[in-house]
Amino acid sequence: MIFLDSAATTPVRREVLEAMWPLLTGDFGNPSSHHELGESAKRALDAARTSVAASLGCRASDVVFTSGGTESDNLAIKGLALAEPRGRHIVTSAIEHEAVLESVDYLARIHGFEVTVLPVDAHGLINLDEARDALRPDTTLCTVMYANNEIGAVQPIAALAELCRAQGVPLHTDAVQAAGWLPLDVAGLGVAALSLSGHKLGAPKGIGVLMVKGRRSLEPVLHGGGQERGKRSGTENVAGAVGFAHALVLAETDRAERAVRIAQLRDDFVADVLARVPAAIFTGPALAATPTRLPNNASFCFPGTSGESLLLELGRAGIICSAGSACAVGSDDVSHVLTAIGIDEAIAQTAVRFSLSGDTTAEQLATVAAEIETAYRAVRSLSG
Ligand code: PLP
Repeated sequence: MIFLDSAATTPVRREVLEAMWPLLTGDFGNPSSHHELGESAKRALDAARTSVAASLGCRASDVVFTSGGTESDNLAIKGLALAEPRGRHIVTSAIEHEAVLESVDYLARIHGFEVTVLPVDAHGLINLDEARDALRPDTTLCTVMYANNEIGAVQPIAALAELCRAQGVPLHTDAVQAAGWLPLDVAGLGVAALSLSGHKLGAPKGIGVLMVKGRRSLEPVLHGGGQERGKRSGTENVAGAVGFAHALVLAETDRAERAVRIAQLRDDFVADVLARVPAAIFTGPALAATPTRLPNNASFCFPGTSGESLLLELGRAGIICSAGSACAVGSDDVSHVLTAIGIDEAIAQTAVRFSLSGDTTAEQLATVAAEIETAYRAVRSLSG
């Protein structure tokens, strides 16, 4: 099997599992319990929080453990918008993940917020002048993703944060796809809040982090026992938090080297695919390892086919990839990301995304490029 679907999920790393194991077996206490087992679990949780804070360059008290990227996005958006509403206006972008778009939509439907959706250009990038114009005295929150899950577009988050700061608007960024590929230094990014998901970076599914800077108030989404300083009730996933902290350290180790190496492999792969299938359309930001594209993303449309048929053909050859985005359950909807960058709806149905990992090799990519050509011909001959 050749796995090129790392944007959908990643396997748990051995070191991560080993770090988690004691917390799932002998040291299984509830961090709220006032006995030795509970206190031991609390120490492990505190250490994980301190480690995540060190990786992100924030305070331990800024780190809230959640169940994953979706919850982090929900908590950031609803929590910040409802806690200190300067007004009822939110700014977001057209290519956000559903976890963001649906949270924003909830605020609009239930709480009467007005939403400005920033368009993106043909490469999937927002325009900073349009962002500046969108910010208003009654803007409570701006939420724009760091890196897009379908086309790998990397937004100018630090520059956007500066615009937001000048207007006193907190900026939240969904950094779920950025982890392990782009710097997550919170101070450098200048964001007020940042979402991460464990299963995208070698930790298990069901653990995530929301970083919320400073003493900013946050209206909880989950109510209960007041864990996570009242920001997220529910008995903490101690083993998950410990695994997340380990995975983040590993993801940050050699990140720059990995990003350059994988971007080069990706560039060669894209060139190979376009040479074999000249009709293919490479979607998203241009190549050349620029800072505007995730190093591990290669996304294409193959006009005259269907993404699902190509996926089946490639699956028969042992290649795992994704038709557009894997994040919407069983969705046949046309990708809002591809339509936002101006791709025709029929063409958008032919999208296939390849997302590399740090372990992807040149040999694997050469095999995949050849199999893409075979699959393309097979699907074309069936449909034509
Ligand atoms: N945000 C982005 C950009 C994603 O790609 C995903 C999942 O693919 C999520 C949020 C949701 O994360 P989770 O699967 O941890 O809920």
